[in-house]
Amino acid sequence: MFPMNLLAQSISMDRWIDIPEEVLEKYLLWRPTPLYRARNFEKLLDAPVKIYYKNEGVSPPGSHKPNTAVAQAYYNKAFGVKRLSTETGAGQWGSALSMACQMFGPECRVFMVRVSYEQKPYRRLMMMTWGANCIPSPSDKTEAGRKILAENPDSPGSLGIAISEAIEDAVMDESARYSLGSVLNHVLLHQTVNGLECQKQLEKIGVYPDVVMGCAGGGSNFAGLCLPFVRDKIHGKDISIVAAEPTSCPTMTRGPFCYDFGDTVQTTPLLAMHSLGHDFVPAPIHAGGLRYHGMAPIMSHLVKEQIVEARAYDQLETFDAGVKWARTEGYISAPETNHAIAAVVEEAKRAKEEGKEKVILFNWSGHGLVDLAAYDAFLSGELTKYALPDEEIQRSLKLIEGLPKP
Ligand SMILES: *Cc1c(COP(=O)(O)O)cnc(C)c1O
Repeated sequence: MFPMNLLAQSISMDRWIDIPEEVLEKYLLWRPTPLYRARNFEKLLDAPVKIYYKNEGVSPPGSHKPNTAVAQAYYNKAFGVKRLSTETGAGQWGSALSMACQMFGPECRVFMVRVSYEQKPYRRLMMMTWGANCIPSPSDKTEAGRKILAENPDSPGSLGIAISEAIEDAVMDESARYSLGSVLNHVLLHQTVNGLECQKQLEKIGVYPDVVMGCAGGGSNFAGLCLPFVRDKIHGKDISIVAAEPTSCPTMTRGPFCYDFGDTVQTTPLLAMHSLGHDFVPAPIHAGGLRYHGMAPIMSHLVKEQIVEARAYDQLETFDAGVKWARTEGYISAPETNHAIAAVVEEAKRAKEEGKEKVILFNWSGHGLVDLAAYDAFLSGELTKYALPDEEIQRSLKLIEGLPKP
């Protein structure tokens, strides 16, 4: 499924892996990303906190995702891969990989969940502008897609189906490989460019955070910022490192640490991670990027070891925080990013109650300018509070009972 050079990174024991010159050159288009202090938001919260954030939304596709997309396109090209195949839900990952492939040469084929393909044309158009072939999934291009279409010609698709199609498409073609935008070790490694860069920026202004926060879907943007701080914590620094996830997909806060498959149809090797079960289908909340059933094994392990803490937030809380953010700091955040902002709001409240001064750092993972329909739903009062019913978790977990335990 993957080229050997990326697999070698995934299992590497090296403490340091250099970023190739060719990749650095592309990063220069938007990196270093700015580190801001959110003074206006601080004023609104009226708590004894200083809030710093890394703006990963300044990349061309508008999120942290090209940090790994560009590296993956480069390593696949170096390995002689002619075409990359991937899936995308709302389109953040697909657009990042489309741009990256355009930079380094492999063709890019993106299986996009059909409902998003039809209802969210803008990310699809970004992919097409960057020269990718974007196909609504389920499609007639794969066995998996044809099977689903035979059963239900009007299937709206799902991320699980799109993953199956992208994997099948890659393994059936000797010159193609599959690409994944989160979860895996090499993806987290590529994202650490952000945390390392951030530590240098903070050093310049003589600041060190008490709390590092971020939102977590598969765990990559949060890992990218926090892993260099995890190293400091392991070496004795007294800091909190907090991941924010949705109450509708509470992988770390309510899912067990177990062995599970990375995809619905059980094609991947088993991963030791927090999981809600590989057939878990989350409610259609407006934070598409946070709806994955599993969590990066590295982040899962850190939660298990209590080095990282996880908290869950409801979508009303997250959009409320996001709108307050936009009305003070100006930038309109991705719905995923709003989870990190909700966590910051809660942390500030705690600091106020405890009468403790705190420096909070968080990853502003992306802008929401292509997700304004989600803001429309919130502003017009259509969004409701939603926590996952316990029965749903129990049902999904039953299916993985028979798998080995870590
Ligand atoms: C995809 C995405 C996420 C969630 O993915 P992670 O791998 O957990 O980072 C978060 N924020 C934005 C803006 C995204 O596009």
